[in-house]
Amino acid sequence: MRPDDVLNSLREGNERFASGAMVRHERVTDPAGGIPVHKPKAVVIACSDARVPPEAVFDQGPGELFVVRCAGHVMEPASWASVWFAVEVVGAHTIVVLGHEGCAAVEAAMSSNTPDAFGAVIGPIRARTGHTDVTCAIEANVRVTVHEVEAHLRETIERLGGEVQIAGAICSLKTGKVEWLEE
Ligand SMILES: [Zn+2]
Repeated sequence: MRPDDVLNSLREGNERFASGAMVRHERVTDPAGGIPVHKPKAVVIACSDARVPPEAVFDQGPGELFVVRCAGHVMEPASWASVWFAVEVVGAHTIVVLGHEGCAAVEAAMSSNTPDAFGAVIGPIRARTGHTDVTCAIEANVRVTVHEVEAHLRETIERLGGEVQIAGAICSLKTGKVEWLEE
């Protein structure tokens, strides 16, 4: 699929999710009876929040999304290596960073009273955002992550050119609708 077609497929899937018209997805099978080819259409970097599972939010079935998740979609070396693998080896050339309304990780990063055990999540978010308004901070967290993707994949992007597409998006918890961020 071309990157524009992938994004359109995710947009349409989100419309189905938000309107409660999700389709029933079959498990990907190989007609020859072997292991199906691993060919996801997109990589989704998402927060671990249980209310925004990417496969549901974009109404995609097994085999369609390569998902990298951590609270606040904070990335660490193994996360970046996973994204690299998905793009370079698996061939998923569309990357979506999915933040969401009411992100507790971003809210915790803006609070002065947070447990040390959560520091590995809130530290990077604090360094990225610097806002006092949680809505702005959530958007900034997505935008900075998009820029980090561009930086980590610079060599791949230069080589593949227009084949690679990176988008930021924020999911509303109230409506389920995804708002796509402009560049
Ligand atoms: Zn979150």
